[in-house]
Amino acid sequence: MSATEQLKKRFDAVFMPNYGTPPVALERGEGRYVFDVDGKRYLDLIAGIAVSALGHGHPALVEAVAAQSARLAHTSNLFLHEGEVALAEKLVDLLGAPARVFLANSGTEANEAALKLVKRAAGPERTYYVATVAGFHGRTSGALALTGKPAIREPFGPFGMDVRFVPHGDAEALRAAVTDECAAVFVEPVQGEAGVVPAPEGYLREVRAVCDATGAAFVLDEIQSGIGRTGRWFAHQAEGVRPDVITLAKGLGGGLPIGACVGFGAYGTAFAKGDHGSTFGGNPVAAAAALAVITTIENEGLLASAAELGELLAGEIREIGHPLVAEVRGAGLWRGVRLTAPAAAHVQSRAAEAGFLVNAVTSDTVRLAPPLTITRAEVLEFTGALPAVLAAAAGDADEDGRR
Ligand SMILES: *Cc1c(COP(=O)(O)O)cnc(C)c1O
Repeated sequence: MSATEQLKKRFDAVFMPNYGTPPVALERGEGRYVFDVDGKRYLDLIAGIAVSALGHGHPALVEAVAAQSARLAHTSNLFLHEGEVALAEKLVDLLGAPARVFLANSGTEANEAALKLVKRAAGPERTYYVATVAGFHGRTSGALALTGKPAIREPFGPFGMDVRFVPHGDAEALRAAVTDECAAVFVEPVQGEAGVVPAPEGYLREVRAVCDATGAAFVLDEIQSGIGRTGRWFAHQAEGVRPDVITLAKGLGGGLPIGACVGFGAYGTAFAKGDHGSTFGGNPVAAAAALAVITTIENEGLLASAAELGELLAGEIREIGHPLVAEVRGAGLWRGVRLTAPAAAHVQSRAAEAGFLVNAVTSDTVRLAPPLTITRAEVLEFTGALPAVLAAAAGDADEDGRR
């Protein structure tokens, strides 16, 4: 039995079956490559779900984490430390408007903080929330209540919250759903877990206008889209709008667990002392990692690179013109390749066989979210191998059809 098969067996015996058995057992990473426990090398085009923004083993991240864990690994919120302050200052600076920050440890916690924050700001007259069909905001009960994916949501309701779902990108449906009794609208600029589905241009401006007209809070979930993924610091900057609350996680820590909830203007001070907290939130090691990620994105010009190489990646895939590819969506180094058949799982496994990690985010869409440090040569290495991967996957799909 291979080392991978052995580890999978041990995994299955001790872990709850919520993830199924992951196909690849990773041991180490180096730049944009990862190696499995049998020594097979893969070019990483998913980066731990848009998390490992600097790739693997980036010296800036390694140094920041090592130095901070040696100096002081944890303080709790009973004490403050410089790193968390510097990180919050940096985030406010990048967002370009007066704001206050709450630091958490994950995306779902960032959204839980946002939910409590808007509840505090709205008061009891505002009784319901609006979110989007197929949207994803996390797995804890509050964030799950806002998640528009019935398969993962419905088994765990009722949530004790009135949440109304409108189609993503549909401004008219939004206008009809949001009244002055709505506490907040939760949206993603691009729906990540739905398959990297952008809203039509101008949609976020419409959300802003509806929220301005009704007084509902505009909460923008940039957990997957933020921190350079689309070629800008934040996806909403493409439309020049400002939400009331923004949530961040994933790429922010470059692989260390961290989340952030940022409130603009009056939303920054809506929590009173004692309203919210987290033992690990603002953890010094995670804060040092996030600062290293942001500084490295600046120093290495990774926003421009994400924009340019993202276009190259999308253009090369379109250029192949394979009949299995219906569409390449998204921006920057964050792409959904929609297929003409429900063959995404086949593309994922054929790609892994060929030494490339991609993600079947839905049955018919393959998600690509490589490290922002990926090079032109590495992009071309992938797109050069893709025709054979697609051909093999199309063969697998044909076989499904005959079965
Ligand atoms: C991943 C994700 C979350 C949840 O983040 P976790 O860290 O897994 O809790 C929430 N919203 C969006 C848009 C995400 O992509």
